[in-house]
Amino acid sequence: MTRPGPLGIIAEVTHRCPLHCPYCSNPVDLVAAGEEMTLLEWLDILVQARDLGVAQLHLTGGEPLARSDLVGVVRAAHDLGLYTNLITSGISLTPNRARTLKDAGLTTSRSASKRPTRFSPTDWRGRPLTPEN
Ligand code: SF4
Repeated sequence: MTRPGPLGIIAEVTHRCPLHCPYCSNPVDLVAAGEEMTLLEWLDILVQARDLGVAQLHLTGGEPLARSDLVGVVRAAHDLGLYTNLITSGISLTPNRARTLKDAGLTTSRSASKRPTRFSPTDWRGRPLTPEN
């Protein structure tokens, strides 16, 4: 019996993000912007993924929209027949950019559409956490 290959990949296309959530590990600057994989390198990864049988590409980060060439990744994935899903905070997603990504073949997008708010930890009942609880 042959073992099936991966059906999806999660691509952290950048660790940059304009938000600074207190629990996020990206502020440690895992990969600086100048050291990120290039568009050509991502295209090579996508071809390898398609050849392995991958059907879904999940684009995340950091904030994937921080990459100005994100539409190129989406278009390449679409042309390779991959389902593309953008996981984003929605920051910097203008109507024009959304249209460009859709036209390039973006299948779905998951976004926190609320404005960023101050992080306020609560317990399971929704009560603010204090040093006592
Ligand atoms: S939106 Fe996500 S990537 Fe950006 S700082 Fe918050 S947790 Fe990190």
